[in-house]
Amino acid sequence: MSNALLEKAKTLEPMNPNKSTALFGGESSGILNWNDIAYPHWYKMYKRLIGNYWQADEINMNDDLRQFATLTDAERDTYLKVIGLLSTLDGPQTRTALLLSLYATDPSVQSIMAVIAQQEAVHNESYSYVLSSIVSLDEQNEAFQLGRTDPILLKRNEAIIRQYNAFVEEPTIENTLKTMVYTSLLEGMFFYSGFAFFYHLARQNKMVGTSTMISYINRDELEHGRFIAELFRATLAENPDLNTAEFTDWVYSRFSESVDLEIEWSQYVLADIDGIDLDEMAGYIKYRANKMLRMMGLSEIYPEHTENPMKWIRAYADNFDGTKTDFFEQKSRQYTKTSDLNGFDDL
Ligand code: ZN
Ligand code: ZN
Repeated sequence: MSNALLEKAKTLEPMNPNKSTALFGGESSGILNWNDIAYPHWYKMYKRLIGNYWQADEINMNDDLRQFATLTDAERDTYLKVIGLLSTLDGPQTRTALLLSLYATDPSVQSIMAVIAQQEAVHNESYSYVLSSIVSLDEQNEAFQLGRTDPILLKRNEAIIRQYNAFVEEPTIENTLKTMVYTSLLEGMFFYSGFAFFYHLARQNKMVGTSTMISYINRDELEHGRFIAELFRATLAENPDLNTAEFTDWVYSRFSESVDLEIEWSQYVLADIDGIDLDEMAGYIKYRANKMLRMMGLSEIYPEHTENPMKWIRAYADNFDGTKTDFFEQKSRQYTKTSDLNGFDDL
């Protein structure tokens, strides 16, 4: 079963039930009634995702344009490198979200992944938007070349590239689960040393426009990570033949390998930035890895890193719960209007 290629879900098949018979490799008509889905609590996840709607050009970059010239050489260089890194994550994620949706035979998953893919597209646009606000076209193009040319970044992305492309070539249920593991790493850990750099600038009142945008991306990625962890657990529960010690070991190995690569990357890209403690950063990466493993129903592998060692980051991220006003109080919060739903949200 695990080596059989999955078929793409039928677009519309009236002979099949509306409520899917399985998340992948099952049957469903293609008609989505949110009141009759296999995992009813996923409706709330969909609403939270939709409630986070924002667009890049709502953020005013005038102060950032002025301030960019006043940053140190190292800060400017790292700024461009980190944007280059983030673009290598959101690019493939736009398409991977779409691919998961094509093979998912549950219409609620198809819709949730469609929203996630849309948000990844906005994240990609936002990197072009911030760079075009502050540097020349040549410098913008150079930052977007890093994912193809920087040896440390290529090494850091190598395993995720391999797994994401394996899913394209061999869409088995096993590759689906492995792709979700890398998606969890991406949404829950790979972004965060980059995010930390921008929050570090923001706490010195530098490049606050960019950090505002990063905090919106951060909020989206936390939701994406939550959903993918849920989808992983549910898919594994539906495919108990794959829930083996061997597979669990594979997941733990990928996590520890990815943590090592992320620490190496962070020490390379943040080396010349004053005020970021690289040991704390390594602890934060391990803390994020533990958090994702817990969400995926697995055990922590860094027992000494169960607490966030960079508490100051919580002012910018990690405490979004859909009710608080976020730190920067920008206008995109006004899109969260679940109370206007006339009771539809009481499901
Ligand atoms: Zn993203
Ligand atoms: Zn994401």
